[in-house]
Amino acid sequence: MTGLWTLGEACRAVGGRLVGDGGPVPGALSMDTRTLRSGDCFVAIRGARDGHDFAGEAVARGAGSLLVDRELPLPVPQILVPDTLEALQRWGQARLEAVRPGHVIAVTGSLGKTTTKELLAAAAAAWRTPGNRNNTLGLPEALATLPAGLDAAVLEMGMSTPGEIRRLTEIAPPDIGVVTLVGVAHLENFVDGQEGIARAKGELVAGLRPGGVWVHPADDPWCRWIAIQPWARGRAVPVGPGAAYAWEDEASLGLHGERFRFRHPGGALDVRIRLRGAHQVRNATLALAAAMLAGVAPEEAARRMGEVDAGPGRGRLHPLAGGGWLLDESYNAAPESILATAASLRTLTGGDQVAVLGCVRETGPAAPRLHRETGEGLRALGLDRVLVYGDHAADLAGGFGPGGRAFPDFESLRDDPRGLASVPPGARVLVKGSRAWRAERAVDWLLQFL
Ligand code: ATP
Ligand code: MG
Repeated sequence: MTGLWTLGEACRAVGGRLVGDGGPVPGALSMDTRTLRSGDCFVAIRGARDGHDFAGEAVARGAGSLLVDRELPLPVPQILVPDTLEALQRWGQARLEAVRPGHVIAVTGSLGKTTTKELLAAAAAAWRTPGNRNNTLGLPEALATLPAGLDAAVLEMGMSTPGEIRRLTEIAPPDIGVVTLVGVAHLENFVDGQEGIARAKGELVAGLRPGGVWVHPADDPWCRWIAIQPWARGRAVPVGPGAAYAWEDEASLGLHGERFRFRHPGGALDVRIRLRGAHQVRNATLALAAAMLAGVAPEEAARRMGEVDAGPGRGRLHPLAGGGWLLDESYNAAPESILATAASLRTLTGGDQVAVLGCVRETGPAAPRLHRETGEGLRALGLDRVLVYGDHAADLAGGFGPGGRAFPDFESLRDDPRGLASVPPGARVLVKGSRAWRAERAVDWLLQFL
């Protein structure tokens, strides 16, 4: 890859000491020997386990250099620093400062970060952080190899505790921010509940560069709360019906996604996206607004965005025997996203509407209530059956009422005849669950047997 730093340049940027010759320019940074590619610089992080113990393996797998806090007896050049995590973050920050894309756009929110980042990166033809690289390790790791000469870079910023997004904005201060939603994810880590979550998301707004601007759903009360806080920076741009950037006349295209009319300060145009559900229309409109604020023509942005397909476990649709459909949302779950995706089942043709769910994690003491309310919400949406497993399954099934069945774990859902085996042919099935419950196992089972 051209345009990247030599080890000597990187070493200067992180204030380290280079041992050995300059060596080859690293293709990328890697903290994990399982995904390391030949030529990468292996960064030894002291986490739950000490990355230095894996440096030998990294070199055996082709690491071309190392970032370490003590010199190791290995035959590759090494950058020595007092603290490898801090050096990794300085590397990413320095690289961003050196190549300075025209626009740095950061996306945060409880849900929809990755999807909105993908939509926006497509719309703006921008570089983006790959996959889900959204924390204080993954973001600088990705930034370290940022190419030069970019018009725009779209960065996902995530958090599970307060202060993380502040650190991410120190590494990469955004010109444009997107807050997709302030929800209840990670509620258990916040003593002050929803306000604490809003403040943590608001760290992105507090970290905007001077003259910055951020977009948010107009109907999200916590985003409006952020906008009026004394620490909020930049200009807030609400997006949604009645606002200057809005979606209108939204309609499902069934299998093919959604269509809507995008209204913006200069006019309006028809937009089609391949993603399903009203929540994706929101994400898409936020992405279009942010792309326009980065100077992209709306027609161009909409055309490019229309090519984006659902990511793995984030809304892929599979045909089932008997004319049914499986909506694979197994990547993760929160109360809002279960209801948002279940609502899109009715736009598909087929028989019974069934939700197969793993419970929602990290909701703390509110868990019983949130699960019960989610069950009630699914009942209100008109679902026929809900099969749920996990520690709060009984709350959710109870909230749903008749047709709701609870199982303690995935194995019982799979082996009990009233579990997965009870899904009728031709059904429209949503599969969703928190990451830890690995609901993709239900996807695999249903695709094999239905
Ligand atoms: P993570 O915190 O794991 O990085 P994320 O914020 O990047 O998650 P995505 O991976 O884009 O989120 O989406 C995860 C799921 O959230 C999707 O499969 C979908 O079910 C749901 N979702 C996405 N956007 C919204 C939204 N605006 N409102 C409600 N649910 C949404
Ligand atoms: Mg993500």
